[in-house]
Amino acid sequence: MKEKLWNDVDDYFTEKLHNSDPVMEAVHQNNFDAGLPGIDVSPNQGKFLKLMVKLANAKNVLEIGTLGGYSSIWMGRALPDDGRLVTLEYKNAHAIVARENIENAGLSDKIEVIEGAAIDTLPMLKSQGWTHFDLIFIDADKPSYPHYFKWALEYSRPGTVIIADNVVRGGRVLDPEDPNGKAMRDFMDLMADDTLIDGTVMQTVGSKGYDGFAIGIVK
Ligand code: SAM
Repeated sequence: MKEKLWNDVDDYFTEKLHNSDPVMEAVHQNNFDAGLPGIDVSPNQGKFLKLMVKLANAKNVLEIGTLGGYSSIWMGRALPDDGRLVTLEYKNAHAIVARENIENAGLSDKIEVIEGAAIDTLPMLKSQGWTHFDLIFIDADKPSYPHYFKWALEYSRPGTVIIADNVVRGGRVLDPEDPNGKAMRDFMDLMADDTLIDGTVMQTVGSKGYDGFAIGIVK
């Protein structure tokens, strides 16, 4: 019952605030047609990420976990003319669809999809000339979140915004038996170091169930 209400309210805000459009709907359709799982952020969450990129005045964005590029396109839309977004994806099939979607959204000049396990591709960004990003969005395999947080710090400057999705996991963040919950608690142990980052968690409900975003600003 409550899930239906969350969905209805999410739909209401999506429609009311025009948080979807034919391009984003085509991304969903293309992902579905290609058999990608529907685990992208919701339209309202995509708009939230776009607003975060704007609020941070971000010119360079790093995303870990592309899927079909839905969140990449939301964030890419907020970039200035000379802005760039690099997104890391493990699965070739996902990367192919993401590149199609990014091309259809007219953002190929701004968004680059890099294929491979992020734990391997993250160190390579240095050799491509990347020193820091202004905003980093973590949304890939959950057990690696603590590693991704360390890499995010490596590619940060004071003021970099780090956002991580799915840290609440329907409350399983507190479940001692849940391995992904344990990964989130390990991630939180790192985020709790307030000499490095000033952070919080926003719990969310909606079409993606009960979950939440961690958000922090690097010191
Ligand atoms: N951010 C996307 C969006 O909202 O549109 C959703 C990303 S989905 C939740 C997670 C993605 O991370 C999947 O496409 C998955 O293949 C990818 N992934 C999983 N393990 C990975 C790894 N080790 N390195 C890079 N990507 C990985």
